[in-house]
Amino acid sequence: MDFALTEEHLMVRKMAREFAEREILPSIQENDRAQTFDTSLLPKMAEQGFLGVTIPTRYGGVGMDYIALALVCEELERADTSARVIMSVHMGLNNLTLLQWGTEEQKQKYLVPQAQGKKVAGYGLTEPGAGTDPAALKATARKEGDVYILNGEKTWISLADVADNFIVFARTGRTGTHRDISAFIIERTFPGVSSMPIHGKLGVRAGDTGSIIMEDVPVPAENLLGYEGEGFKIAMTALDNGRYTVGAGAVGLTQACIDACVKYANERETFGVPIGQHQLVQRMISLMVQRVEAGRLLIWRAGWLKNQGIRNTRETTLAKWYACDASFDSAADAVQIYGAYGYSDEYPVERFLRNSKGAVIYEGTRELQELIQAQYALGYREDRPLRCEPVPYDPDTW
Ligand SMILES: Cc1cc2nc3c(=O)[nH]c(=O)nc-3n(C[C@H](O)[C@H](O)[C@H](O)COP(=O)(O)OP(=O)(O)OC[C@H]3O[C@@H](n4cnc5c(N)ncnc54)[C@H](O)[C@@H]3O)c2cc1C
Repeated sequence: MDFALTEEHLMVRKMAREFAEREILPSIQENDRAQTFDTSLLPKMAEQGFLGVTIPTRYGGVGMDYIALALVCEELERADTSARVIMSVHMGLNNLTLLQWGTEEQKQKYLVPQAQGKKVAGYGLTEPGAGTDPAALKATARKEGDVYILNGEKTWISLADVADNFIVFARTGRTGTHRDISAFIIERTFPGVSSMPIHGKLGVRAGDTGSIIMEDVPVPAENLLGYEGEGFKIAMTALDNGRYTVGAGAVGLTQACIDACVKYANERETFGVPIGQHQLVQRMISLMVQRVEAGRLLIWRAGWLKNQGIRNTRETTLAKWYACDASFDSAADAVQIYGAYGYSDEYPVERFLRNSKGAVIYEGTRELQELIQAQYALGYREDRPLRCEPVPYDPDTW
């Protein structure tokens, strides 16, 4: 067992940390207040290679492993959740799904420009009536000659208003079960595709979230991802990677709580001493330390499994559940440590609290992660072989 980060890991972590301090932190308070998504982040993240960090170089990526992906997510979310969300949907949910399930033609056409950061990608599974239970989705795909005609609405989609390409899920059959669902690659420019922003969010206010509406969208048959009826499996394997990035980001948010609270607890005084000397404040900080260390280990174990190409739904779900709950609890404690000042957006901790709540909901709510763990423990769930297994990291060919 080796917990040491490689030279490459240390380098990418440093790059991501410096990037976050330079490009995100100076404007985040203003962007969060104004609910503005800073689109200039996308080309800047592309330039750093973040948008293709864990994609082989032959597909336009940087060729680093899954631990590197976690480190980038952790460092970006240490500054703000909205930047990490870009990694989750573009890299976690879309790029890695194309790598696993795409044909060579699909990889060349979509994955290469996405990994290079020339195109931005999103993922549309959730619908107004289907979130935790995606098998209930209603979008349809009707085959007509060499195109599928897609109709339906996807909602709460990150990067809905800015992404160029999306993986979306729609029904190609009529049994009403998850076996009817197929996955498609669509482009924003396809006729009949439109998007609408969602305003008034609790958190991730500096991020873009919206709905995607598909009205008689003609999608070339070659944009079917996987086979007809494989969409549900594809959606779930995408979440194995998306949840990993969300959990890794949550570790960064907990770290940000520690950074902020240690500074504040050493400065703010009550009863003639810094509040850090009060044991009840120390308890909140020590719990944050426990949470960040445990969360990071769970994430790194999931990353190690991904590097081997071993299925990791159980481990990734556990890591995501733990790390996201931990960051929410840590952010609540951080506001407490800041007292009334924590209740104001003059300091970052109230933003941490609002942002951390999102991760307890998206990419599977806390309750769903709990159910999954129970199902594995009770023997109600097992991983069956897939036609396209997760792609292992290979230092020689990536
Ligand atoms: C900021 C943000 C970004 C998002 N980005 C994306 C994106 O890019 N792409 C995408 O496809 N989706 C995205 N989502 C949607 C997100 O994945 C869903 O909101 C999430 O899956 C929950 O679905 P829901 O909101 O419909 O809640 P529901 O499914 O309606 O659940 C409501 C409540 O019931 C509970 N519940 C449901 N079923 C059970 C059960 N069987 N047992 C116990 N409790 C249960 C849930 O845990 C929850 O507490 C995003 C959401 C947010 C907030």
